[in-house]
Amino acid sequence: MATKKSASPGETGLPAGLALLHEPLLNKGIAFTEAERDALGLRGLLPPTVLTQEQQVERVLENLRQLPTALDKFINLNGLHDRNEALFFRVVSDHPDEMMPLIYTPTVGLACQRFAHIFQRPRGMFISTGDRGRIAPVLRNWPQRDVRIIVVTDGERILGLGDLGANGMGIPVGKLSLYTACAGVHPATTLPVMLDVGTNNVEFLEDPLYIGTKQPRLRGKEYDAFVDEFMTATQEVFPGVVVQFEDFANQNAFRLLENYREKVCCFNDDIQGTAAVALAGLYTALRVTGSKLADQRILFLGAGEAATGICDLAVEAMVSQGLSESDARKRCWLMDSRGLVVKSRTDLNEHKRPYAQDHAPVGDFLSAVKAVKPTGIIGVAAVGQTFTREVLEEMARNNARPIVFALSNPTSKSECTAAEAYRWTEGRALFACGSPFDPITLDGKTHVPRQGNNSYIFPGVGLGLIAARARRATSEMFLASAQSLADQVPQSDLEQGSLYPALARVREVSAHIATAVAEVAFARGLAGVDRPADVQAYVRSQMYDPSYKSYV
Ligand code: NAD
Repeated sequence: MATKKSASPGETGLPAGLALLHEPLLNKGIAFTEAERDALGLRGLLPPTVLTQEQQVERVLENLRQLPTALDKFINLNGLHDRNEALFFRVVSDHPDEMMPLIYTPTVGLACQRFAHIFQRPRGMFISTGDRGRIAPVLRNWPQRDVRIIVVTDGERILGLGDLGANGMGIPVGKLSLYTACAGVHPATTLPVMLDVGTNNVEFLEDPLYIGTKQPRLRGKEYDAFVDEFMTATQEVFPGVVVQFEDFANQNAFRLLENYREKVCCFNDDIQGTAAVALAGLYTALRVTGSKLADQRILFLGAGEAATGICDLAVEAMVSQGLSESDARKRCWLMDSRGLVVKSRTDLNEHKRPYAQDHAPVGDFLSAVKAVKPTGIIGVAAVGQTFTREVLEEMARNNARPIVFALSNPTSKSECTAAEAYRWTEGRALFACGSPFDPITLDGKTHVPRQGNNSYIFPGVGLGLIAARARRATSEMFLASAQSLADQVPQSDLEQGSLYPALARVREVSAHIATAVAEVAFARGLAGVDRPADVQAYVRSQMYDPSYKSYV
């Protein structure tokens, strides 16, 4: 037995004994060293063997890989997250390709559907309509005071799964895990929030185990007042905290973003993060074609949060390249379930109207491709198999390098497969996807499609906002993040048809994006700290490293 005794539990400032083992932000489990076991009152509370963190990672992977289903793996990883955050993040950060689909999409969707039944212990905060009038004191129940980023949802449009009510809590939890894993945002500074305003999901309302408030969704003025009390309380309890809106339904998402973007540092990842990742894909594609964004004509299949978000940011980018706003809008064409978005239509919501074109109505997508002759098509309607052979052949006829982004999730909703995109364009498509596809070899050339995954953007944006203590999240920051992401695709990736960098490099990519975002905050007078001489070094110094620290 080791006899070295460097400090007593009281002297270290850490909790001791079981309290330390039960504190996930500090726990190292069986990796506590002999000296730590002596100093921290752990002797006898752990088996005698001391493992390294690397050995623990191997053990976690061994157990995980034996589990039969992705949901089992999700539950297992969730348990690890609750016990030992450093080990959880070491596993996820070191194996992003394997772990991200387990802790986030697609598995998190299934986990949310089953959330009430696999529930083990709470994580984050549930703010319910019953808390109206006391949201600030409720937020003060959170044990950490230095919260820098909140991801909040009301569970109404969870991924493509619709209204999952309070079960949607898996999304803010999973998303904040990605902030830490992909960009090193410190887990102690993150807070997942579920605004439980009821649910219209009949199955859940009838489920005795449902964890949320059993009432129809709050709507109208009452809903807005509830969200407003929450937003005010966030800034009162955690001054300057970044708020990221997630998976709100269209009818609320756009309005909430408009209401708060000029008041607090907030953004909506479904709208703005998606926009930046898609714009980055376009920038990368244009590196291949050598043309300018302002010279493109983009036709979107879908006209929801993703499509109009991408259009809004692309318009800002074109304006920054010298186009007028109205000319830039003429380069973005939308198609929704009722056809091409044109001026003669009387059924268009507010967010589609700016993109209504002076054109005769067109009902189907192939006819729209023939009429508009786009240089790029972007699918974000969640309707599978809509980029048909005819559509892709038409794109290939009109363009030397047609841009084809099939961004809808999950795979069954993808507008086309990677194989179809390459085959029907004679291998000339500049292709990006929302769902994962394996490399395709065609006529002796291997194409490596990569996902336009928001996880390339939002973690770096969040880190940049936090590092600069930014007072607002602006469109210019999202433009900078898109440019930074595109700049980080090496030439060798371009040559194999990859429009995004490898996911394994995401922490490095995020450090650059965070720097670009922070630079905008400093340049625009939106930062809450002085500009350091070396912004990138400063940003990197803020990144959480999940390696174990020595406590004695
Ligand atoms: P949304 O509900 O806001 O929008 C969907 C849009 O599709 C609506 O405008 C609707 O009118 C339109 N639509 C539905 N059926 C149609 C049809 N048959 N023809 C033409 N249009 C039709 O959803 P969203 O947030 O914009 O997401 C849409 C899809 O994009 C989802 O599959 C989502 O997973 C995917 N997405 C991918 C990424 C990514 O890869 N990075 C990011 C965000 C969203």
